[in-house]
Amino acid sequence: MRTQVGIIGGGPAGLLLSRLLALQGVDSVVLENRSREYVEGRIRAGILEQHSVDTLVAAGVGDRLRREGLEHSGIHLQWPGTRATLDFPALCGRTVWVYGQTEVVKDLVAAQLAGGPPLLFGVSDVVPEDVDTDSPRIRFTDADGAPQVLGCDVVAGTDGFHGVSRGLVAGGGGQQVFERTYPYAWLGILADAAPSTDELIYAWHPDGFALYSMRSPTVSRLYVQVDPAERIEDWSDERIWDALDTRLALEGWSVNRGPVLEKSILPMRSFVSTPMRRGRLFLAGDAAHIVPPTGAKGLNLAIADVTRLATALVRLLQDKQTDLADAYSDAALARVWRCTHFSWWMTSMLHRSGDEFDARLQLAQLERVCSSEPAARELAENYTGLPVEA
Ligand SMILES: Cc1cc2nc3c(=O)[nH]c(=O)nc-3n(C[C@H](O)[C@H](O)[C@H](O)COP(=O)(O)OP(=O)(O)OC[C@H]3O[C@@H](n4cnc5c(N)ncnc54)[C@H](O)[C@@H]3O)c2cc1C
Repeated sequence: MRTQVGIIGGGPAGLLLSRLLALQGVDSVVLENRSREYVEGRIRAGILEQHSVDTLVAAGVGDRLRREGLEHSGIHLQWPGTRATLDFPALCGRTVWVYGQTEVVKDLVAAQLAGGPPLLFGVSDVVPEDVDTDSPRIRFTDADGAPQVLGCDVVAGTDGFHGVSRGLVAGGGGQQVFERTYPYAWLGILADAAPSTDELIYAWHPDGFALYSMRSPTVSRLYVQVDPAERIEDWSDERIWDALDTRLALEGWSVNRGPVLEKSILPMRSFVSTPMRRGRLFLAGDAAHIVPPTGAKGLNLAIADVTRLATALVRLLQDKQTDLADAYSDAALARVWRCTHFSWWMTSMLHRSGDEFDARLQLAQLERVCSSEPAARELAENYTGLPVEA
């Protein structure tokens, strides 16, 4: 087997990269170690920045997003007794869209299987080789158990945080890892309940942070801050709803309850591995960096990385120019660090550490963001996403 770009990982980053390359005449093959059903069912992110929406629409996979996605023009920031609203269009001229990562992946898989580049599910033992040469290859075992070798010009490591690609970049020397593990986690539920709020609510509360978000006009996605050592078995649906009622409480308003469709605990971590390239192996998305979900940046960063990487690879493979490929890691990392800072800042402002001094600082910061236009604008610009430059 031979292709121009061998893509390891069929999450949003890998699938979108393949799509963007195909639209510009570059061949690729996507190797995914899970099944289609598993990849399409994985509940994760749900907020798309303006640039992500524009990219998906321009890539021809935005029809359902535009039909079923919910455009949001702000967020509510809350602390006991106060619910303030940030108006994004007024502050920065941009909006965000609520559209689940599962739906983005379904749209990309459908486009790929309808005459797009090959997408192989259920592969195993994926090993990139010879990435320091101009003709790397990927060894893997296909879904029928047959060993295969995929020869290519470039390998894209879009295999998420637990993939094989980052380790190979580290093996090239000069790797630096920057990491922060937070002393809290999110317990998230997906509920068959119509949202009782127009915008997402980010709530500071003495018991801990809570987030009210949604996936559709009938499905809500809600989170409460918990200790990372908590066990999901110890949180009955009733206990979760009660915690949400307490932390999101506001006079004359209540949380709509409904059957819980899914629940899980998500640890929170910031992680950046540099560089995002070794020879002909390029990393993108969670393979290179992780952010805590408070700033809704993970999926959007993955989309920004591959938007930039696709442009660089087209130039490398079609024009034989190495400038954008050489600039890729530093340019992508500049956005990664901006988003890492924003995600850390939102996390630090909203989560209870148990320390009362911290709590007063957080409340002072929240009041500042909700009373000062420049402070609100800073949040709005980062939340809705800065434009991606080629
Ligand atoms: C549990 C969870 C919940 C999250 N919730 C939120 C949220 O609420 N809000 C938010 O903004 N972000 C959230 N995120 C972050 C966001 O979902 C990620 O940033 C996004 O999925 C990154 O996309 P990606 O394509 O880079 O990686 P992934 O989506 O992880 O895709 C990587 C793909 O590579 C495949 N793969 C892995 N190893 C191999 C291999 N060896 N060979 C072949 N294929 C391989 C995987 O199966 C996967 O399909 C969450 C992440 C997780 C893990």
